[in-house]
Amino acid sequence: MAATAQRMKRAHARKCWTGARDVSDGTNAATSVGWRDKVLEELQQLEAKALDALEGVTAIEALEAWRIGYLGRKGELTVIVRSVGGLPAAERPAAGREANRVKAVLEQAYEEKAAALSQQEMARRLSDECIDVTLPGRPVEPGYIHVSTRTLREIYAIFAEMGFQVYESPEVETDVFNFQLLNIPLYHPARDMWSTFHTTREGVLLRTHTSPGQIRAMREYYPEPIRIILPGKCYRYEQVTARHESMFYQVEGLAVGKHVTMADLKGVLTQFARKMFGAERKVRFRCSYFPFTEPSAEVDMDCIICGGKGCRVCKNTGWVEILGSGMVHPQVLRNGGYDPQVYSGFAFGMGPERIAMLKYGIEDIRYFFANDLRFLRQFA
Ligand SMILES: [Zn+2]
Repeated sequence: MAATAQRMKRAHARKCWTGARDVSDGTNAATSVGWRDKVLEELQQLEAKALDALEGVTAIEALEAWRIGYLGRKGELTVIVRSVGGLPAAERPAAGREANRVKAVLEQAYEEKAAALSQQEMARRLSDECIDVTLPGRPVEPGYIHVSTRTLREIYAIFAEMGFQVYESPEVETDVFNFQLLNIPLYHPARDMWSTFHTTREGVLLRTHTSPGQIRAMREYYPEPIRIILPGKCYRYEQVTARHESMFYQVEGLAVGKHVTMADLKGVLTQFARKMFGAERKVRFRCSYFPFTEPSAEVDMDCIICGGKGCRVCKNTGWVEILGSGMVHPQVLRNGGYDPQVYSGFAFGMGPERIAMLKYGIEDIRYFFANDLRFLRQFA
């Protein structure tokens, strides 16, 4: 519709000027000069009118409307300029010159107005949007050390006093390091104790415990004596509950040397419990089973909530389990390169989240990775 209307309008304009040519094609020179004068007059009127209108323009939008109205493809000046082509050949130059002059005048006026308006706009924005540099800044809230990291650091510090160094090993492990070299052969029922995330590559998995680091450290340090702790994330394909997460931290400990005994194990872990939970803590060692230690022991301490009287946390036993431990199995020593006839060692493993839960009275392990600031801020 719009296109048709445009075509009709153009046809109409042409027809008018065709009419003019019809007249000028006659021998009547005076008539054709009359047409030229008419065009010149129209141009001058338009010039005055346009400049007048431009005076009143005070905004960028209005300026653009002015430009389209006079200089645009269908603007008033453009229509007249087109019509010049319809004049007799002799009259065209003068009319054309005048049209070009008016066009140049209007274009220049437009440029000047545009520059003035943008200057005004800039001045307005500078005054309206200026920044008050004397205003006090918005405070940036400081971050906090995550409670898991904080507990890990406390554990590092306690073991550092006893000469243990931190040793880090990979989170993605092979079946060989995670199980086989730790005395857990393929298809052995003990594997049921570790629900495992396997990768799509055969024999590659997310470590289920930090224990594979024991083998790596022994192979690296042999034949030196070893006293290390191995902290890091572990993964288990387990249902997430208040007590179990599929990802959690573990801190493993390993000591290997020529005269390391169970008494050393008991001394180190009792010292740890008392440094972590208070000098008055009682510690007990309970027979247990791990494939990579022999003998093995669970370590309990008297419940810090009820002091051993019995409560919900200790399930009314008065004791809470804090870690697992044992003397390194001779086969594991051998797998690490140490001769079990000459060397002995002890190992232990604990969950820092569990330690933190006991220490700070946290009831649900899922809080650790839920990223809830109301929880995390409590450890600021
Ligand atoms: Zn208790």
